[in-house]
Amino acid sequence: MIVTIDSHSGFCAGVTGAIRRAENELQQTGQLYCLGDIVHNGQEVQRLEKLGLETIDYDDLRTIHNARVLLRAHGEPPSTYWIAQQNGNTIIDGTCPVVKRLQQRIAETYNAHKHDNPQPQIAIFGKRGHAEVIGLQGQTNNTAIVIEKPEEAETLDFSRPIYLFSQTTKSVEEFNQLVEHIKGKISDLGFQIANFKFYDTICRSVANRVEQLKTFAREQDLVLFVGGTKSSNAAVLFNHCKQANPNTLFITSPDEVEDKIKSSNSPQGVQIARRAFKSSNLKVGICGATSTPLWLMEQVRDKLTILTGH
Ligand code: SF4
Repeated sequence: MIVTIDSHSGFCAGVTGAIRRAENELQQTGQLYCLGDIVHNGQEVQRLEKLGLETIDYDDLRTIHNARVLLRAHGEPPSTYWIAQQNGNTIIDGTCPVVKRLQQRIAETYNAHKHDNPQPQIAIFGKRGHAEVIGLQGQTNNTAIVIEKPEEAETLDFSRPIYLFSQTTKSVEEFNQLVEHIKGKISDLGFQIANFKFYDTICRSVANRVEQLKTFAREQDLVLFVGGTKSSNAAVLFNHCKQANPNTLFITSPDEVEDKIKSSNSPQGVQIARRAFKSSNLKVGICGATSTPLWLMEQVRDKLTILTGH
């Protein structure tokens, strides 16, 4: 059996940076609060919790005083900084620099045009309720309109100026579809196309992963995709992987490896399972999301090696 870990899988630079900041702080003080899960991966959260990291929510943030609080890579709205300061808490800002720049661009656009007449609309192509999107909406005093799918563009007023941005982890293809949809609507209704400004603010470290991952998946007989159930990036990448190679299984921890392979209902699942445990030339690929730690993919590889004896 040939087992390969995808070299493009694992934490993006933003998540790596936030985790490093947490580790540095924990090394010095042994205790640190983090607002929300530092990464959408339960195993990595548990590892850091053992070092002294404590995950808190917004209600907790209002009650703690004079503490050190880490903000994760997704970023936060201005209100979070304000609440923390009111209670004398120190912010350790782990916001990814790419997200930070996007927040600044949206804030600048909002402040430059908020008194224009007719009043412009700031639209964000992203997942409603996602931490990054909440942070972006906060830059506009929560006036930005969130659009999850191109069809939802209908909520916009095409007669007024539109400034469109994107959450960093959205699909480039869907963003382009949305742009074309809005352009079509504006011209069909006879309004000014020049009033529509759009900015592709999708992070390429994630966007480029889709094609790399599909290529990797196609080269394997069996793919074990390692990810957390709370991660939207894991869900999206897993689907791409499964399309490229139907023999792709979603694994959250090494303990699931045996059961998932044996109960696989993929087109060649039974055959693949039999070969995984008997063949020495089966190609198995291990990959994951931007929230999947390398150590977890390595544990899955080790577990597979022990189980199959190859
Ligand atoms: S996906 Fe890109 S923008 Fe988002 S945290 Fe990672 S590096 Fe930053």
